[in-house]
Amino acid sequence: ADTRRESLYVLSGRAAKFFSDTMWESDEGKTIGLSYFRERGFRDDILKKFELGYSPESWDALTQKAISEGFKEEYLTETGLTIKNDKGRMYDRFRARVMFPIHNFTGRVIGFGGRTLKTDKSIPKYVNSPESEIYHKSNVLYGLFFAKKSIKDLDNCYLVEGYADVLSVHQAGIENVVASSGTSLTTEQVRLIGRFTKNITILYDGDAAGIKASLRGLDMILEEGLNVKVVLFPDGHDPDSYVRQIGSNEFKAYIDKNQKDFILFKTSILLKDAAGDPIKKAGVIHDVVESIAKIPDSIKASVFISECSNLLQMEERILITELNKLRLGKA
Ligand code: ATP
Ligand code: MN
Ligand code: MN
Ligand code: MN
Repeated sequence: ADTRRESLYVLSGRAAKFFSDTMWESDEGKTIGLSYFRERGFRDDILKKFELGYSPESWDALTQKAISEGFKEEYLTETGLTIKNDKGRMYDRFRARVMFPIHNFTGRVIGFGGRTLKTDKSIPKYVNSPESEIYHKSNVLYGLFFAKKSIKDLDNCYLVEGYADVLSVHQAGIENVVASSGTSLTTEQVRLIGRFTKNITILYDGDAAGIKASLRGLDMILEEGLNVKVVLFPDGHDPDSYVRQIGSNEFKAYIDKNQKDFILFKTSILLKDAAGDPIKKAGVIHDVVESIAKIPDSIKASVFISECSNLLQMEERILITELNKLRLGKA
């Protein structure tokens, strides 16, 4: 079984090399893939470090190459690099896309994200590898292999949404950055970060709807005993577009100036929503105390109670009573 896993790793690494060779060496790869990345402002050293590439516009270039080199069909389909249709015809999953290899935290390639260069809305912007014996999405953070040293050294991890955000922020000299890549953050991913630091700073895409939807999910990070901060970007920007617009020094300054503790952030957005409505405000208070109740460290929890009591204009004593109720309920 271990030799089978090893073969899947070797095949994935081989595919990453195929995509990067195609991008750096073929005419199609250079004129389409490489120019795309360069026009987006990515430097060659970043393209090489992250092993970015390009999958040619061909039905089965990778599949044929891998088979000619002796890789088993079954490994090609297990990794999802090859799709077999009902008629038994095999074709490449990734065609005419720029390719982002996904590495595990020891640096081996385990899957891919592929971005289309077309603006046609009927084509999915990103196609990702399916789950496989070596790729379990919920346990993986994009960029962790390249970020882990810096996360440890700086005792903080920036979390972004997309591949391009990781690359741009890393290129700007902020190397402690990873992405959950499309899925909402899982407990396993938070525990993975927790091996390197207890501090997460979330750099959101700046769209209000997304932010409110994700508030609930973030309580999970508190439950794992980590500290969470959030940074919002101006509307319509994500970390990638924003760092490209303002440059790395301004970007760092923006983060330092705008990072807010998650609980205080949550309290203030919910409060804004409830303005002038006592019933809604009561709901907000419950919500906030529920978040605080997730914090395992009781001293930290008390500090939040006192800060939120100010924001909510509600006596600490009442918040503490509510907190204790929730804590007892949990036991
Ligand atoms: P870009 O800057 O290249 O347009 P992005 O990373 O800003 O891409 P978002 O739309 O913000 O793209 O999505 C964030 C992440 O969600 C992507 O990086 C990708 O991992 C994932 N994602 C986006 N669209 C899809 C999709 N159609 N299918 C699967 N995953 C997707
Ligand atoms: Mn988004
Ligand atoms: Mn983007
Ligand atoms: Mn984005």
